[in-house]
Amino acid sequence: EYLTDMAAKRAELTPGATAFVDHESGRSFSFCEINERATRLGNLLLGRGLAKGDRMAVLCHNHPDFFVLLFAAQKTGILLVPLNWRQPVAELQPILATSGAKLLFHDLAFVEIAEELAAATGLSLLPLGAEGRGGSALDRLLTGASPAAIGCGKVKASAPWYLLYTSGTTGLPKAVIQTAGMAYANMINYCQATGLSIGEKGVNFLPLFHTAGINLPTLPIFLNGGMSTVLRKFDPETVLDLVSAGNVTCFFGVPAIYQALALSPRIGKTNFSRVRSLGCGGAPVPKHLLSEFQERGVTICNGMGMTETGPTVFLMDKGHAPAKIGSVGKPQILTDVRLVDGDGGIVEGPGEGEVQFRGPNITPGYMDNKEATVATFTVDGWLKSGDIGRRDEDGYYYIVDRIKDMYISGGENVYPAEVEKVLVGHPAVLEAVVIGVPDAKWGEVGAAFLIVRPGEDLDTTTLADWCRKQLAPYKVPKSFTVVDDLPRTAAGKVRKNILKDDFLADNS
Ligand code: ATP
Ligand code: MG
Repeated sequence: EYLTDMAAKRAELTPGATAFVDHESGRSFSFCEINERATRLGNLLLGRGLAKGDRMAVLCHNHPDFFVLLFAAQKTGILLVPLNWRQPVAELQPILATSGAKLLFHDLAFVEIAEELAAATGLSLLPLGAEGRGGSALDRLLTGASPAAIGCGKVKASAPWYLLYTSGTTGLPKAVIQTAGMAYANMINYCQATGLSIGEKGVNFLPLFHTAGINLPTLPIFLNGGMSTVLRKFDPETVLDLVSAGNVTCFFGVPAIYQALALSPRIGKTNFSRVRSLGCGGAPVPKHLLSEFQERGVTICNGMGMTETGPTVFLMDKGHAPAKIGSVGKPQILTDVRLVDGDGGIVEGPGEGEVQFRGPNITPGYMDNKEATVATFTVDGWLKSGDIGRRDEDGYYYIVDRIKDMYISGGENVYPAEVEKVLVGHPAVLEAVVIGVPDAKWGEVGAAFLIVRPGEDLDTTTLADWCRKQLAPYKVPKSFTVVDDLPRTAAGKVRKNILKDDFLADNS
């Protein structure tokens, strides 16, 4: 039931070792310092009248101080609510209102948005970041705050610790309860999958308002006594330099990150030999991208997770990645997976069905949203992912597509992900997205949206032929539209619902 207070435990085990390096300022923080800062902050918050179950929000670029907030939340039971800085005030305001946050931490980059939000909601503001000669904003805040330990060094495994919003790919983002139990389980899954050992080095740049930014692999590395270099945000050149310098042994990105790395002029000179584990997930990974890195001798392991499950439910093992390209591997040590077919039957052996999860890495539910929680779990306690998965004869899994994105053309199921894979195989196509749209004759047909590879010309009239050679006729999109960009979530996932609404509005 009870687990250790993470920062306190690490400060006991490896007090003087470096936990975080802030890349921009060059300042480093030992485990002892992180724990002390979190303790002082916790005491300060409790002193200001906040209590267990209250909420505090944060709007900031990546910074080691974010983890101080996270550990202060763990010590006090005050829930941390990281906000998505890519969202405008109009979208943040209702989220803040429903989260019940009394306090908003923000860094300098977001001072105007924070002030606007404070004026509208009445919450109080506290600054972060801004490293100057007199220290950082948090240093100043913590001066005089008590370093007396909070609690007994134990935290309840299932107690809400922080909240994370889903990406909002299929609708409005939902607030998912995150617990210490989930984080420890994710750490075990990640360590088991990658052989993470003591003294590992990571680089933190994925946004901290998503589970991957916190848990992949930053918290597992922290819990193992390793070090993470924190970048304000992703920058391909800085990341590749850190990799070449041997400052990264574990790396995790989403497809858009690998795409940006592949396009960087520095990629050819980057030495990946010190990186033991390279993972990618969050969205389907184009096979050509995996092959491109493989040709450079770099094996990317595809993994799958959700805000509701933590990021490591599936992670491909390095040895099998080249042979099973496109697979997310097998379920990790603490997580059970089953495939359920359209009739509710459990699929045995090779086959296809909805992917459902069970294990200590799974959320207890959505915050203050019983309806969504009930709808997402089966009566026997499995989490319904909303994704279709396939298991092959060797027990390896593939994420086929989201159930919501599947459409039916002339009575046949079409998974857009399959069509998109064929389209990005075309030499002039950088990115492709297919949605199902209404059609008088077929019920629904595919509409494809394409981003052209830089420096290439794309003749869309030849694309139907390209598809016909590789796909059954009912899977070939009816229209092909070249676009400059696509509506995306913060994690770079395409928001197909918006694309579809726009298409319908344009064609009505
Ligand atoms: P929302 O739930 O708000 O619609 P979302 O599902 O995109 O948004 P996340 O929790 O960030 O929110 O993403 C989890 C989903 O991402 C999974 O359910 C799956 O559809 C997709 N996904 C994650 N990893 C992979 C992967 N490796 N391949 C294909 N899809 C993936
Ligand atoms: Mg989801």
